[in-house]
Amino acid sequence: MPIATVNPADGETLKTFDPLSERETERRIARADAAFRAYRTTSFAERARLMEAAAGLLELDEREVARLVTTEMGKPVTAARAEVAKCVKAMRWYARHAESLLADERPDEADVRDSGAVSARVHYRPLGPVLAVMPWNFPLWQVIRFAAPALMAGNVGLLKHASNVPQTALYLEELFQRAGYAEGCFQTLLVSSGAIESVLRDPRVVAATLTGSEPAGRSVAAIAGDEVKKTVLELGGSDPFIVMPSADVAAAARTAVTARVQNTGQSCIAAKRFLVHTDVYDTFTEAFVAGMRELTVGDPLDEATDVGPLSSERGRSDLEELVNDALAQGATALCGARRPGGADRGWYYEPTVLTGITDRMRIHREESFGPVASLYRVSDIQEAIDIANDVPFGLSSNVWTHDDAEVDRFVRDLEAGGVYVNGMTASHPALPFGGVKRSGYGRELAGHGIREFCNATTVWRA
Ligand code: NAP
Repeated sequence: MPIATVNPADGETLKTFDPLSERETERRIARADAAFRAYRTTSFAERARLMEAAAGLLELDEREVARLVTTEMGKPVTAARAEVAKCVKAMRWYARHAESLLADERPDEADVRDSGAVSARVHYRPLGPVLAVMPWNFPLWQVIRFAAPALMAGNVGLLKHASNVPQTALYLEELFQRAGYAEGCFQTLLVSSGAIESVLRDPRVVAATLTGSEPAGRSVAAIAGDEVKKTVLELGGSDPFIVMPSADVAAAARTAVTARVQNTGQSCIAAKRFLVHTDVYDTFTEAFVAGMRELTVGDPLDEATDVGPLSSERGRSDLEELVNDALAQGATALCGARRPGGADRGWYYEPTVLTGITDRMRIHREESFGPVASLYRVSDIQEAIDIANDVPFGLSSNVWTHDDAEVDRFVRDLEAGGVYVNGMTASHPALPFGGVKRSGYGRELAGHGIREFCNATTVWRA
């Protein structure tokens, strides 16, 4: 994939970049290694000062950087501004909480004595330069979700961003520099995915985190495994959105629209499959389809736009293939399933609702990365759980019910890293985020996230 900014709203190539040479990549790894040696000994107060400074600068840049993101990957500019705000919040959260999240842990006195020690504690130390391989869909947030905890823990970062968001990647490097971080603490590597292997095999790079597709995750994890290096993987999802009879159906239908089309449907935690109890199916469907039809599809720089273009021509054709496969095998489109009339430029696709999905159709098990919803009628909670779990993924889930026994059952049985009740999945710095099955492993955010790239050191003293 060429490293370039190509505007998804009109397909125009705005800027191209040469990938870094091997020599320059090596120089940057050396810089990261040197930076880590000094940065690892900085105090939490110093790290917090730097992180607060970066958050303040990002906040000031909000409008400009949001336009840049929209131009590179096509999300509505209002959503891009919300992404900036979310990043600022996470940076400030980690600046405030990192020290307590990484405070020494002391076992029970009785256990300390039983181990033969006078004192014992667990002390968290940073690991070193971590490689972050990141996707384009939340091009600021995915990076900050890694960088804020990693830097607060005393690690340094090397970013290999998706090839279609190079200017956003360069902006992030510059942001941390402007905030006062020493050279080498956070660097962008403008390289193709083919260059990842040699970076990851370099002994100075100690671990990797990847957010993206399953093939990319598998490749990075295989190389890291061969090198015995830690990885965190945040991969795809096909989250269920289950509506039971006791739910507020009107609220569920309204939220369902947002949950499906956020970021033009290109979100790992977007609800993709809607499993609705037969008692409320017709009421829900009518409101949901009406909501999907009412969305404004258009220029992502227009403040009134709800759904912009998909990020690439390939992204749209992949989505079309998934929909066409379902339609060819008997599914019905209640709305959409086509490009908008008159949009001869840009990679637009209409919000779509499909019913009559069967397990022979690709869309039953694959992730639909765009504004396409799969709607299922279910007769009871067991059928809802069975269909919800009948995918390789297990990222998050959304359940709508006012029955506590049903909530307990969903929490017990849904194969997912999250269960959101009467709302939609949304990440928050204080809550761990991640999946099971083919959605990956490890957690980001909260204390779980900051400890992923730490050396939990046992300090035992006789
Ligand atoms: P992608 O193609 O896997 O790209 C993600 C990153 O991996 C990019 O930097 C890409 O570089 C790199 N990459 C691609 N193939 C690789 C390989 N074989 N080895 C090493 N690196 C490779 O994914 P995407 O299309 O950008 O993003 C969409 C996917 O990400 C969806 O499945 C979505 O669900 C998932 N996602 C997951 C989360 C989560 O938190 N779980 C969040 C957001 C997105 P190039 O751009 O240079 O190819």
